[in-house]
Amino acid sequence: MKTIGLIGGMSWESSLLYYQIINLRVKEKLGGHHSAKSLMYSVDFQEIKDLQDQGNWDEATRIMMDSAQKLEKGGAELLLICTNTMHKMANEVETSISIPLIHIADSTAIEIIKDGIKKVALLGTAFTMEQDFYKGRLVERFGLEVIVPNEADRMVIHDIIYQELCLGIVKEASKQSYINIINRLVQQGAEAVILGCTEITLLISQDDCPIPIYDTTRLHAECAVDFALNER
Ligand code: GLU
Repeated sequence: MKTIGLIGGMSWESSLLYYQIINLRVKEKLGGHHSAKSLMYSVDFQEIKDLQDQGNWDEATRIMMDSAQKLEKGGAELLLICTNTMHKMANEVETSISIPLIHIADSTAIEIIKDGIKKVALLGTAFTMEQDFYKGRLVERFGLEVIVPNEADRMVIHDIIYQELCLGIVKEASKQSYINIINRLVQQGAEAVILGCTEITLLISQDDCPIPIYDTTRLHAECAVDFALNER
């Protein structure tokens, strides 16, 4: 079994889920008392959020590269960045290390393609929904058609992520807002929805949605285990 390296803390609410999912998956596959070999480097999210708000992506990239290198030095044999947004600098991080980076959009898109879905809605932070690093990858590498909510709805999605979910606050009213937004995307032809932020799964589950959901947290963590067990 390979040792999984995780850059966590963005936020730690979702890093907890990563830790649980990878260990449950190893237990399910290997049985007994097996658990995942892993290392987590958990950042201070306030520092990262401040850099995001200032648009200081260079410094944020430096921190991600430094974290990745620390994990590689510590013995990690593959790397996960446990947030969709911070895949903005995935290419720089990937070239700064010699272990493979498992990209969160790839582990998600592979499952979407397998299920024959072509038009998908993407929910995430404004960075993820509006910039090209994530949507572009889904379109160019996987041929998916990706739609995002309108501007007002994107703001609602974004604010709930940072003001509530990243702080561990889960509100029924916010869940309803997300469901209403998803329903509008269904009307625009979305066949499925990507929970493209690692905290959205705290709020929304399959039972809340009329179309299939693709939970990036779970798909990313499970993909890492399969890779660590040489199954991918
Ligand atoms: N965890 C979130 C994501 O998946 C947002 C936090 C961040 O800005 O990294 O995008």
